[in-house]
Amino acid sequence: MGKVTGFKEFERHDRKYLPVAERITNYNEFVVPLPEDEIKTQAARCMDCGIPYCHNGCPVMNQIPDWNDLVYNSDWQEASRNLHSTNNFPEFTGRICPAPCEASCTLNIDDNPVTIKTIECAIVDRAWNEGWIVPDVPEKNTGKKVAVVGSGPAGLAAAQQLARAGHAVHVYEKQAKPGGLLRYGIPDFKMSKHLIDRRVKQMEAEGVTFHCNRHVGVDTDVAELERTHDAVLLSGGSEHPRDLNVPGRELDGVHFAMDFLRQQNKRVSHEDLGDVLPILAEGKHVVVIGGGDTGSDCIGTSIRQGALSVTQLEIMPAPPEKENKGLSWPNWPLKMRTSSSQAEGAARDFAVATTKLTGENGKVKTLHGIRLDGAMKPIAGTEFELPADLVLLAMGFTNPVHQGMLKDLSVSLDLRGNVKANTIGYKTNRWKVFAAGDMRRGQSLVVWAIREGRQAACAIDEFLMGTTLLPR
Ligand SMILES: Cc1cc2nc3c(=O)[nH]c(=O)nc-3n(C[C@H](O)[C@H](O)[C@H](O)COP(=O)(O)OP(=O)(O)OC[C@H]3O[C@@H](n4cnc5c(N)ncnc54)[C@H](O)[C@@H]3O)c2cc1C
Ligand code: SF4
Repeated sequence: MGKVTGFKEFERHDRKYLPVAERITNYNEFVVPLPEDEIKTQAARCMDCGIPYCHNGCPVMNQIPDWNDLVYNSDWQEASRNLHSTNNFPEFTGRICPAPCEASCTLNIDDNPVTIKTIECAIVDRAWNEGWIVPDVPEKNTGKKVAVVGSGPAGLAAAQQLARAGHAVHVYEKQAKPGGLLRYGIPDFKMSKHLIDRRVKQMEAEGVTFHCNRHVGVDTDVAELERTHDAVLLSGGSEHPRDLNVPGRELDGVHFAMDFLRQQNKRVSHEDLGDVLPILAEGKHVVVIGGGDTGSDCIGTSIRQGALSVTQLEIMPAPPEKENKGLSWPNWPLKMRTSSSQAEGAARDFAVATTKLTGENGKVKTLHGIRLDGAMKPIAGTEFELPADLVLLAMGFTNPVHQGMLKDLSVSLDLRGNVKANTIGYKTNRWKVFAAGDMRRGQSLVVWAIREGRQAACAIDEFLMGTTLLPR
């Protein structure tokens, strides 16, 4: 523990954002790092609790009090080593994790948790700047070959762990570049894509081979992958979007969020958009249906593209402004949160449902909605209309895509339509086929995908070698 009285002496200070007027002019990250002295002061606030609830709050079980202590004592290199022992990609989570660890922090009982995520990000950013993060090449090769389908955080974490255990790892990705939703979903202003490129280079030097533009189950036969590899990991995400079944859904200008977001991320990276209709918010009244992360990303992107107005609709009632700590701590509480994108100028409405969309000349013009009561029943007389030139559907994802790879493999599915495998063996009903990340657990978080990738790698290593030294 760094400073015994730190938590009594110092208040929580976290990273600030660049002003809205400045940040919406571009797609760059806008979170301003804290200076080194302030990071050390914030690390000094950690109480090194007898039971560190943050360990369990963090899905990868980062050893948070240990690296807080190391940072307070200026041993940044050891802090980075410790952090990487549980998390392959802390520069991703240090930017985009919702930080359930901070909800679990004992200091959060009076709303003043340690700035865990900020300290995590500072450790790894410094480690990259200092050149401490280098390829970790295995001493010997096992002669085993593993295929990983999908290069999101689950596939990347699994591939890195398996390569470090000495296996020849081949990652198959249908998109042009690796990264999954880190690359083509989450906007650049939340996470710059050079961070993924840097990790991909590290992984290539560790022996991972990336095969992009390879759609398994479409242009690449999954049975062939099974035949030519000693194990196959399915980490293709949960890509089937929830649709809105109302009259007018077919009008021009009504799109799934991912079609909109993927295009913008490609534009920022100067990637070829392919043969698709451009979806742009400039000069339009935008309505985003769905109140989660994806909806927020649509708001920030629409505002940067020059939307006339952005309104976000949520079917659930507004959550309470403040949680009841006695009931919720150390768990993740349901409460009103305002994302950085929502703070950039979106109007928000809760407990509303869309009844239909109408338009002119085949193009959407108006969204028709109604308010809902506590039982989510429409309240007569509360009908309303909103101007809507672009409607973005961000209501989540129901399950992985079944057509193609999963059907060809005949893997068993769970009741929600995800690939069935438990979190001990990560094994599907097929002999050498495993599953991890959103494809197994349903839509979730980057940090959960990293955890599942790491744990699945451990299970695969044990399957191949009879024993494993990889951490779970
Ligand atoms: C818009 C958006 C914003 C989000 N924001 C956040 C956030 O801020 N913080 C957070 O923690 N989480 C966020 N999430 C959730 C998070 O991104 C996911 O939970 C996480 O990326 C899941 O990782 P994964 O590796 O399981 O799958 P994915 O990231 O979905 O990656 C799956 C990969 O598999 C590839 N693939 C699929 N099928 C095949 C096939 N048959 N052949 C070859 N390749 C295939 C896909 O192209 C993709 O690259 C967000 C999600 C979305 C949609
Ligand atoms: S990965 Fe997420 S939950 Fe874990 S320490 Fe980092 S911010 Fe907290």
